[in-house]
Parts: sequence; C-alpha cells; structure tokens
Amino acid sequence: MKKSGDLCTIDKLGRILIPVKLRRKFDLNPDDVLELYTDEERIILQRYIPYCVFCSNQDDLTEFGKKYVCKNCIEKLTNI
Ligand SMILES: [Zn+2]
Repeated sequence: MKKSGDLCTIDKLGRILIPVKLRRKFDLNPDDVLELYTDEERIILQRYIPYCVFCSNQDDLTEFGKKYVCKNCIEKLTNI
C-alpha cells in the first residue's frame, strides 16, 4: 500500500473529503459508490463493483432490489 501524502478530516456528520488529486487519479465522480474494507488499523475505500449475491460473478448482472443476480443464477432459479 502506497502513502498518498494527503490528509483529510472528518466533519461533524462523519464525512470526509477525498482530495481532488486522488479523485482525478482514480476517476471518482459524484454518486460513484465506494465499498469500505477494514482491518485492525485501517479503513480502505475501493470502487464498488457489483457482483452476483449467489456466486460472486461480475458479468451479465441484473439488479434485483439493491442486490445483483447473474444470468446463470437466474436460469438456475427459474428451473427450481
Ligand atoms: Zn450468480
């Protein structure tokens, strides 16, 4: 993991501002969704990549509610 050298503060509502330099570098835009990962000492932000809730496949997804299901799993479910 590489240190960016940037600092940010948490406001009263718990929000942080990602410096423009990093938003441009990672092509982050308003309303993009980030996924949060944690370990004992860190919080890591990563662009959210939708995946099938049943098999984790990332291709041929259909949104169902706020979850995603892939084409293969939809076919399996329709055959039940
Ligand atoms: Zn699937």
